[in-house]
Amino acid sequence: MKNTPLLFVAFFVVGAATAQTPADRQKVEGLLRQMTLDEKIGQMTQVTLGVVSTPQDGVLDPAALTKAVGEYKVGSILNVTNHALSAEQWRTVQTQIQDEAKKTRLKIPVIYGLDGIHGQTYTLDATLFPQNIGMAATRDPELVAAAAKVTAKELRASGVRWNFAPVLDCGRQPLWSRFPETYGEDVYIGKTFGVTAIKAYEGDGAKNPTAVASCMKHYLAYSASRTGKDRTPIYLPEIEMREYYLPQFRAAVKAGASTLMVNSSEINGTPVHASKYLLTDVLRKELGFQGVIVTDWEDIIRLHTRHNVASTPRAAVVMAINAGIDMSMVPSDFSFFILLKEAVQKGEVSLSRIDDAVRRILLLKARVGLFDNPYPEPAAAANFGRPEYQQLALQAAHEAMTLLKNEEGFLPLHTGMHLLVTGPGARSISALNGCWSYTWQGKEEQWYPAGSKTIYEAMRDKFGADNVSTTAVAGFTSAANYDTAALKAAAAGVDVVVLCLGENAYAESPGTIGDLALPDEQKALARAAASTGKPVILVLTEGRPRFITDIAPLAKGILLAYWSGRKTAEAIGDVLSGDYNPDGRLPYSYPRSSGEMVLYDRKPTEDIREIFNSDMTMDGYKPLFPFGWGLSYTSFEYSELQLGSPTLAGAGKLTVSLTVKNSGRRDGKHTVELYTREHYASITPGMRRLRAFKKIFLKAGESQTVRFTLDRDDLAFVNAAMRTVTEPGDFDIYIGDKKASFSYKAQ
Ligand code: BGC
Repeated sequence: MKNTPLLFVAFFVVGAATAQTPADRQKVEGLLRQMTLDEKIGQMTQVTLGVVSTPQDGVLDPAALTKAVGEYKVGSILNVTNHALSAEQWRTVQTQIQDEAKKTRLKIPVIYGLDGIHGQTYTLDATLFPQNIGMAATRDPELVAAAAKVTAKELRASGVRWNFAPVLDCGRQPLWSRFPETYGEDVYIGKTFGVTAIKAYEGDGAKNPTAVASCMKHYLAYSASRTGKDRTPIYLPEIEMREYYLPQFRAAVKAGASTLMVNSSEINGTPVHASKYLLTDVLRKELGFQGVIVTDWEDIIRLHTRHNVASTPRAAVVMAINAGIDMSMVPSDFSFFILLKEAVQKGEVSLSRIDDAVRRILLLKARVGLFDNPYPEPAAAANFGRPEYQQLALQAAHEAMTLLKNEEGFLPLHTGMHLLVTGPGARSISALNGCWSYTWQGKEEQWYPAGSKTIYEAMRDKFGADNVSTTAVAGFTSAANYDTAALKAAAAGVDVVVLCLGENAYAESPGTIGDLALPDEQKALARAAASTGKPVILVLTEGRPRFITDIAPLAKGILLAYWSGRKTAEAIGDVLSGDYNPDGRLPYSYPRSSGEMVLYDRKPTEDIREIFNSDMTMDGYKPLFPFGWGLSYTSFEYSELQLGSPTLAGAGKLTVSLTVKNSGRRDGKHTVELYTREHYASITPGMRRLRAFKKIFLKAGESQTVRFTLDRDDLAFVNAAMRTVTEPGDFDIYIGDKKASFSYKAQ
């Protein structure tokens, strides 16, 4: 948060402090004293909407609802059945559920949770923003906060007070199908933006109709699967876990996140849902997390059915609850309720563990104001779909756009040019939005808002319908989209080919792939386009980097658009036409090939390429485009770096400043990134670590002084004793092409 404007910080700190009142605590203790074992276990049970629904989406089954809430005393419900509902339908659903809860003995309201991953996923017409990977490219914390705030408002307007976000998994394995949900490969960005999002969700005080409870997920290291396949084993030394995967959660706990969801996978052979070490020793005792720990989908029973560490279903329940789980996302039956009750009766789970879990759940309900008023609030409903949200979605998509290549300054395109806009992404909406977009997989375009634009349509708006043609059709996989002969024929009559390639939407395991290579049929389109001799602009809409090494040289320009939500197409049109000067920066190292997957914060021996004995090069990090890469239509020049002192001593501060000049002819935003490198340390130091960044706007010709303040915590790393330390020594600071050095002395 170091670089966030003061006003913004003050606003959130005040909010976080009002989370729990003594009256809430009293209310919860009073309830706990009255509750039966059934009522307690019910609170720990979460079922999916389908359990209480008719086959018709959004229509509840009264008998099933009574069974769940009345008989099994279920404390929480989640998810949709098939697709998003309207905000009004959601309010009806929530009202019916709370009416049912009102009929129970203690009238404890039900808490409902949804995945508002990049905007409120499951409400029709909700505002969708770039996926986290695109938000990371913006390098703009205020934008991250504003987008999260809109998400909170649109959830609450739907009567829902618990958001299963943000994803804090560090995206260091690009094969992983949930890579787009991450903030990329860097720990500092993940930590900063995770905290920013959490404060925006909860900062008003979650009783307020503009806030929701957040859920940091998926604890821990879910993204580090060895093969990149979803929900498969992670082998992770403790030192790596603590250096790259834990800091985001530590910071999120400190920021006041209410809840946490657990990694479905296993680390070093122990499923995380069964890990007392990670859930209780590290999370509760070391990090001090006080909130609710919820499982991921079906993950308790899977200790028996998939992981094979529990020989019976009840043993699985005992294992998970004793490890520290508070709530089970069961989610499709009442087995957990029955098994946990048996386990308590047999003395396998103590009543004090049950009380501990239920207390946390009831405090969460109090925290979001459910005991005050469990029903959808009219004041919240008024916050849905406001016109300014669309403007914000456009700004976010603009700032995500990352221009990777612009040979001879070919871009932006000129008015009056004739364009062929084609490829599988040209007339797709799902390929612009990706996962968690009105449906889980995001593929079904009928649920997207009317007026959602394709790239082809946005380009026609920009360049005029008569100047833009296409061979593309709707449907990313439609055969016509791969017709190279048609492409070549159509290219004959145009000035430029804008070729839209990448990935269609996918989420979680269905997004598993065996290869990061862009499919051959897409590469064939690039070759066909280049063979016409016409300049080719490649537009990539993709959730994770797909290899483009062999086709990149064929393109004059390459624009990486990620999956940037509702306004992706408009943002692409604005960048290609020059109406928006791009400023996105890569949040990951764009890999060159499967043998070149080195990350930017590489170790010294990854930087060295040993050719033969003493014959070596220092180019071990050679991605196609490096972390932090992103071109502009203007140019920025940096002055030499000014350090407040050549020495940082003890708990002191070191200021670093420079003057940035927009030396080109266009106004533009620009992110200044500060990296450090320690010369020698007890653990091999990274060649670069991002420690701070600041985004500024400069008019053409304008200059601005940018200041950073570092302290010893910014230079810390995990040592061999698993402690986070800063060791005395010499450091380099890198900002763009400038470098300065200082020493840290412990004092
Ligand atoms: C995902 C979670 C999500 C949950 C509820 C799971 O499959 O892993 O991220 O919150 O479903 O939708």
